[in-house]
Amino acid sequence: MPKCPQCGKEVNCLRNFALCWSEHKFTVSDDGLPPYAPSDNIVMSDPVENEYTCPECDATLFKSEAEALAFMKS
Ligand SMILES: [Zn+2]
Repeated sequence: MPKCPQCGKEVNCLRNFALCWSEHKFTVSDDGLPPYAPSDNIVMSDPVENEYTCPECDATLFKSEAEALAFMKS
């Protein structure tokens, strides 16, 4: 299992944050506010804006899928 270069802990996954646009159904409920539905639909994502962080220490380790893949296979 690869070890995080920041905290030294073994990790079996990374946390991937991706910049994307999501679609929500917009309505107004009885209290006059829109209900924020948890279900959403990703309609567009930016393949360039990606961050891969350590699940143990939250350090940003990589910004490309290729680097993250190489790390996970190490
Ligand atoms: Zn770490």
